[in-house]
Amino acid sequence: MIANTNETRAEYQHVWVVAEVMGGEIQKVTYELLGAARSLAEARKSEVWCVVLGHGVTAQSESLFHGGADVALVVDDEDFAEFVDEDQADVLTRLIREHKPEIVLCGATTRGRALIPRVAVVANCGLTADCTELGIDPENGDLLQTRPAFGGNIMATIRSADHRPQLATVRPRVMNELEPDTSRKGRLIEESVRPGERNGLKKILEVFTDTENAINLADARFIIAGGRGLRGPEGFRMLKDLAERVHGAVGASRAAVDSGWVPYYHQVGQTGQTVQATVYFACGISGQIQHLVGMQSCDFIIAIDKNPDTPLMQLADVAVVGDLFEIIPALIKELPKT
Ligand SMILES: Cc1cc2nc3c(=O)[nH]c(=O)nc-3n(C[C@H](O)[C@H](O)[C@H](O)COP(=O)(O)OP(=O)(O)OC[C@H]3O[C@@H](n4cnc5c(N)ncnc54)[C@H](O)[C@@H]3O)c2cc1C
Repeated sequence: MIANTNETRAEYQHVWVVAEVMGGEIQKVTYELLGAARSLAEARKSEVWCVVLGHGVTAQSESLFHGGADVALVVDDEDFAEFVDEDQADVLTRLIREHKPEIVLCGATTRGRALIPRVAVVANCGLTADCTELGIDPENGDLLQTRPAFGGNIMATIRSADHRPQLATVRPRVMNELEPDTSRKGRLIEESVRPGERNGLKKILEVFTDTENAINLADARFIIAGGRGLRGPEGFRMLKDLAERVHGAVGASRAAVDSGWVPYYHQVGQTGQTVQATVYFACGISGQIQHLVGMQSCDFIIAIDKNPDTPLMQLADVAVVGDLFEIIPALIKELPKT
């Protein structure tokens, strides 16, 4: 267990980002977290460290420095070519014990959600999952971790006042990457896996890519999303036709998913995906807070609704008041199939 009560908190410094690595590549969310970590570290007058657990990753340290890291702490090991949560949690906990970071950020991804709770238990510290906003309390330097709470009806700001480090997972596409600065340099610290940190509890035999369900909402630049206003699966076929014409992806509200009109992997929102498209085109979605938290950082929002007073119509850059069953077919007619 790590000694991390109030008496020892001054020993903990620096902001860590745990890199998300897939197929030997450091993923975009890592750079988003580095962007957030930089402003936290500036407020704390400390450094940004990026911890990379993977294989064939050391050479990518440069890009971490360009993205905002001062230090890359790399454990490059053949056994980490695939994600093994037990072993990586053991290594990360040991690194935390040795280096004592004040803050540890990790993506609220499937992997981050598997890894960080294990670390929080062994490190005996608090964890705030799924943060959408981070800040520093100017009074005492605590990390202010904001996330939707009580079904998304309120945004709660949580602090871990008595324990260090402060652990938080952050949703992908919520924080902004920094513009890469190729003149930035950093320090590389190489660590290795120690005996006893290879639990051998599981072995990854093969990794499959789910191509059938691969609608990459997270990376889509143009999203056409539908809600209960579409009335059924037929409405979504119309939406898909429109999306194909603009090379966009189809998103959905939970109401549409729960009604069985469209599969879950289309869902945007608190219990679905967070998206950051250039254009988000919402059709028949009222925009309850649980939906908004998943799409409000899109660059340009267009909404169609019969009701001009819905939260989404109020948020939209362009709000079209009308019947989507008239407007969408008219758009489809105008746009050629490519
Ligand atoms: C814990 C929790 C988690 C949740 N997570 C999510 C989540 O991840 N994502 C999510 O989306 N929701 C989520 N929800 C559900 C959320 O609270 C809403 O119930 C849901 O988003 C509503 O979906 P909707 O906007 O499609 O439906 P509605 O609120 O019913 O809105 C339908 C809209 O369509 C309009 N409309 C109807 N007919 C037409 C027409 N012909 N032309 C134009 N407009 C029309 C209506 O005026 C209305 O504004 C969650 C809820 C809880 C409690």
